[in-house]
Amino acid sequence: MKTQNEIQQHIQLIEHYTQALAILGYDAKTGAPHNSKGQTAKIIGTLSKKLYELQTDSSFGKSIEHLLDKELNEFEKKQYEVQYKTYKRLTSIPSEVYNQLSYLKAKTSAQWGIAKRDNNFNLVKDDLIELININKKVGSLVDDHMSPYDQLLDQFEPNIHTNTIDRLFGNVKNEILPFLHQLKGRNTEHDFSFLKKPFPLEKQRKLATELLKAIDYNFDAGQLRDTLHPFSAGVHPDDARVAIKYVENDVKVAALMTLHEGGHCIYTQNVNKDLVDTGLGRYTSMGLHESQSIFWEKIIGKHKGFWKNHYYLLQNLEPEIYQNISAEQFHLGLHEVKPSLIRYEADDITYPLHIIIRYEIEKALFTDQINVSDLPEIWNDKYESYLGIRPTSDTEGILQDIHWYSGSFGYFPSYLLGFIYAAQLRDAIIHDLPNFDQLIEENRLVTIRKWLTEHIHQYGKLKTSNEILNSLNISGINEQPLLKHLKEKYREIYKLQEVI
Ligand code: ZN
Repeated sequence: MKTQNEIQQHIQLIEHYTQALAILGYDAKTGAPHNSKGQTAKIIGTLSKKLYELQTDSSFGKSIEHLLDKELNEFEKKQYEVQYKTYKRLTSIPSEVYNQLSYLKAKTSAQWGIAKRDNNFNLVKDDLIELININKKVGSLVDDHMSPYDQLLDQFEPNIHTNTIDRLFGNVKNEILPFLHQLKGRNTEHDFSFLKKPFPLEKQRKLATELLKAIDYNFDAGQLRDTLHPFSAGVHPDDARVAIKYVENDVKVAALMTLHEGGHCIYTQNVNKDLVDTGLGRYTSMGLHESQSIFWEKIIGKHKGFWKNHYYLLQNLEPEIYQNISAEQFHLGLHEVKPSLIRYEADDITYPLHIIIRYEIEKALFTDQINVSDLPEIWNDKYESYLGIRPTSDTEGILQDIHWYSGSFGYFPSYLLGFIYAAQLRDAIIHDLPNFDQLIEENRLVTIRKWLTEHIHQYGKLKTSNEILNSLNISGINEQPLLKHLKEKYREIYKLQEVI
């Protein structure tokens, strides 16, 4: 048995390996020297193996199991529960199955790159079948009381499983589909081609820096670099980094993605520093993490008041395009509703449908209702049915995202759960700060950021997402605030009459 002191040191070791891996991962995807790839992969392999050994150490696991039966304070209880959940999960998978899973994840994601480049799903199909099968097997080993797919979901959003998601997403789909139909054809009177004019990358980088400063991102505890797929690395509160992709002919992508990834990092930067190295010093769930990025991207970053204060950045950086475009026109351009094939470029109204399509397919795969070989057809049929557009290639369709090919099954729902949480949190802020719109218009975003820190960020894993909602007098996750917010906003923008 380990003493409590030894347990704390053990957790600190786990944390240091986790943090080192996050830094290496960020570096590898943001301009590390080309030749460093091979050795970096070996280093990552060594550190990951060591991390696994620490997390599955039997004297560590048994000691916390023993302590969980004792009288503990709230902090210790949370701390041990978090560690024990990981320990339990990892030790219920035999090491040969775990190694095979790691191998198949790496193999399939590499093969996905080739299949995507060659626009041919068949090149990765067999690997994907193996990867799905081993995930089903892992799911059946970890917990008898949950279906394999629920177990995958539980890793990202604890206690939100298919029964809840079916209800939430079903209601969103039933209301968004007819609403999208109402909006169709409404935007033709506007010309948003200015958004597609070349905006030099160097200037977009400056814009990204200024936007991060505008939302109270702390550059002394962060960094901004270029990458191919936007992401953030929340190492610890003093090190939360943003990586952005810039598209020369679409400045909107970098502007909104910067606010999105910045939102993730603002969460990390404002976790109570006393929690660092305790195992509780990071986001509480993937859905809540996503709520913070979506809050800054879609609630603040698409607010008229925000651009009233920051539109001058575009005008100063690219006067030739923007001197004759008003802030209102630009703001309207951010709200153009147009079904498209690519998830992360989607507008607010069609975005939920992109996620629902992925959820429905994933769930069907794990309940053996569909075959992997039919995936391209199924994907394209759903796009045609929900969005009215049909991908003409595997690259734009079934091969679009890396998630499934890297073994991240159950991850996609977090994106929409995050959007749903963000709207619920917006209501809670307005309850406490009824001058919410005015705060944004007066550029007093720090007040809003501090509210988020006080009620969410600071706690790290000390509170679950549901405990955070309860502390705000919200009884659980609910899609209605999101639907209400979207409908009100888009009805006003598109001047739709209320249908009674
Ligand atoms: Zn995100």
